[in-house]
Amino acid sequence: EPFYLEGRHVSASASIGIALGSTDGTPEDLLRNADTAMYHAKANGKARFEFFNDAMRERVVARFEIETGLRKAIDTQQLVLHYQPIVSTIDDHICGFEALVRWNHPERGLIAPGEFIPIAEESDLIILLGRWVLHESCRQMAEWHKKFPSIRPLTINVNFSSRQLKDPRLLEDVQFALAESGLNPEFLSIEVTESSLLENTEQTLTILNRLKAMNIRLEIDDFGTGYSSLSYLRRLPFDTLKIDRSFISELSAGSDGLDIVKAIVEMAHSLRLGVIAEGVETDEQLCQLRKLGCKHVQGFL
Ligand code: C2E
Ligand code: CA
Ligand code: CA
Repeated sequence: EPFYLEGRHVSASASIGIALGSTDGTPEDLLRNADTAMYHAKANGKARFEFFNDAMRERVVARFEIETGLRKAIDTQQLVLHYQPIVSTIDDHICGFEALVRWNHPERGLIAPGEFIPIAEESDLIILLGRWVLHESCRQMAEWHKKFPSIRPLTINVNFSSRQLKDPRLLEDVQFALAESGLNPEFLSIEVTESSLLENTEQTLTILNRLKAMNIRLEIDDFGTGYSSLSYLRRLPFDTLKIDRSFISELSAGSDGLDIVKAIVEMAHSLRLGVIAEGVETDEQLCQLRKLGCKHVQGFL
């Protein structure tokens, strides 16, 4: 039942974790299992119940191992960056690279970001990891600029999580990474996903505007998957849309994918935004993208 608190109507809900006892378990085990199940109930939307099962326990342990291991990995140089080229469809030249982080685990070998980024995003670990990625990306690109002065300078794309956009030290970090590496800010491009824009509002707008004022490029990652209102494209200071690879994989003549990509490219052009197609794997996809006027591509091809 709702109740009154200092003249306000308050409703409290409850999340319940249920664990069944066995003869060989201790009371502590039982409580811990119930607790684990309760956190699952909360994570799955709150105000509900969940029964404990062993898979939950295994996930908690795996997660704990990643969390503690990752903290150490950042300090001991176990993270590495792989660079995926972003290529012009007009002259086939490389225009820049996207920095993609991997964890070179001493026992498990290279671990893909999908396995540890979501866990890092639940705590301040993503701030520490993001800071390392940013510094290393800027350092590497500045080094390449110095090493190859005769070629057109390349841009480095760095992924930012929504939690980083809320970090009060972010601007300071970015300034420091640029100053330390000597990279010209116009060659740094920051990627944020459409869905991370949904979570943040005024604060994000302020941060994005400040980054833009520093002459940094801003790109929307995984465009088309965030279910957001398109009005933000006018309000937020973005330079480029990156079309999500799910649309590119459906690119063949007469398919829905083709119509969607065509619409996105046309919309971007009329809003004076750049477009990068992600996840280009085949010559056919590249050929279609060229025909649609998409000027930049990225992918296994
Ligand atoms: P993303 O930003 O959308 O990055 C593109 C992902 O697609 C990369 O996976 C890349 O290897 C993969 N990919 C590239 N070309 C192709 C292709 O032609 N076909 C297919 N099937 N896949 C392709 P990866 O490296 O596993 O990264 C996954 C996600 O992890 C990234 O998605 C990004 O959201 C996140 N991530 C990676 N590095 C960082 C980082 O430094 N910071 C943050 N916050 N997130 C990162
Ligand atoms: Ca990205
Ligand atoms: Ca993407």
